[in-house]
Amino acid sequence: SEVKKDSKLMHIIHVTAEMAPIAKVGGLGDVVTGLARACLSRGHRVDIMLPFYGCIQREQIDDLTLITTYNSYHDGKWIPTHAYSGTVSGIPVIFIEPSHQFFKGQHVYGGSYNELEAYLFFSRACLEWMQVTGTQPDIIHVHEWQTGALPLLYWDMYHYLSLQKPRIVLTIHNMEHYGECRQEQLNMCGLDGSLYATFDKAVDDRTVGHNPERLSLLKGGIVYSNAVVYVGIVNGIDTAMWNPSTDVFLPSKFHAQNFEGKKLCKYYVQRGLGLASGNHVPDTALKVPLVVCITRLVAQKGLHLIIHAIKQVEELGGQMVILGKAPDSRVESEFEGLVNLHNQGQSIRILLMYSEELSHLLYAAADFILVPSMYEPCGLAQMIGMRYGAVPVVRKTGGLADTVFDMDDEPNHEMANGFVFEGIDEGSLNRALGRAFACYRNKPDEWNGIVKKVMAVDNSWNNTAGRYIEIYESVRA
Ligand code: ADP
Repeated sequence: SEVKKDSKLMHIIHVTAEMAPIAKVGGLGDVVTGLARACLSRGHRVDIMLPFYGCIQREQIDDLTLITTYNSYHDGKWIPTHAYSGTVSGIPVIFIEPSHQFFKGQHVYGGSYNELEAYLFFSRACLEWMQVTGTQPDIIHVHEWQTGALPLLYWDMYHYLSLQKPRIVLTIHNMEHYGECRQEQLNMCGLDGSLYATFDKAVDDRTVGHNPERLSLLKGGIVYSNAVVYVGIVNGIDTAMWNPSTDVFLPSKFHAQNFEGKKLCKYYVQRGLGLASGNHVPDTALKVPLVVCITRLVAQKGLHLIIHAIKQVEELGGQMVILGKAPDSRVESEFEGLVNLHNQGQSIRILLMYSEELSHLLYAAADFILVPSMYEPCGLAQMIGMRYGAVPVVRKTGGLADTVFDMDDEPNHEMANGFVFEGIDEGSLNRALGRAFACYRNKPDEWNGIVKKVMAVDNSWNNTAGRYIEIYESVRA
């Protein structure tokens, strides 16, 4: 459908550590791409500035062109830096590539360079690029601690040089990480770290107990930005990237009016993962409820409940596929143990990796998408799952509580679109899974109705981008 153009148009530059699909670790990458696309379609000019990570696959970038060679300051030196332009999934991107170890390696995060220093460099290099090219957007939209120093650099340095017009918006997607920074480290980007060591600048009173002398880039970003957005209220999903009726990764497309194709996706995944071998003919395999869980394997996501679900789903005669990556090596070896225990059997597959392609296939194959988070600022997995006809089973917290409503909650039955539990104990999860499986197995009409209903839920950016535009409007010069 045609999107109405806004009447007052702006130039917005996102400065970010992640962008889907080329440099994505979690929801941040999705949010940046989805919001950028929504603003572009409303007529705004949007660019994304991203580190040129070594792990980015260049064939995913259209029209990659070197546009600027310049120097940007770091730790007493000026580092020769290349800026490239390109288009990713229809969105203009500027890639910043220093002649330095920064951003080299196999992954977006966790390279063998100092991450904090790399993002301090990146924050300044983006402003330096705007300065040398005379680019003055209305809004510089920064995200998370990685770009938290940019507002400080802008107001205390570049605004005294040539950048006058931009105003800064900071979005905090997840408060767990705040960018702990020593004063000497802040010095590296050319600011005087000692000037920021106060509560009204970059010292966080929440963390003062353990680290009185440490700065928080996130706190600094909050103080120095013109507007701060805490996600949990305003996210959507990128419905161009997440669309089961056009998704190139799916063996068969489908949509809310006709979701026969979803069965084929499910059987395809069951076959591919060896969950439909033996005596399973398609009809038998398709009868087995398939639970999918796609997540970063970190404590926030409810690891003990994910692990428990494996046992419970098996006991209930269902199947479960986990696609997850653990940044922590102890968690990783725990899950490797589970892989050894379960992956040979007929019901569980645990895939310890990051794969965009597999994630699309699994959302399409799933009957249920499990999100048992301890806390969840917004959560995209349940929204993506719904769009692909997977009924969410979620813990009632944060954005999950705002988007999923329980089937058995009588007073709100029109809203009902999933199965919700409150407790963090195994029993709470068991009861929700039990109700979910019972509905799937015993009430086929109700089940088809709910699949159709979740696919029709509108969690697109069309609904929410407007709230960002209002924020941009409220601070622009
Ligand atoms: P968070 O930002 O905390 O990771 P969200 O639910 O907001 O959580 O976003 C998670 C995004 O990352 C979703 O798009 C999900 O599909 C994706 N994702 C998480 N883990 C993986 C993985 N191992 N492989 C592919 N995609 C993943």
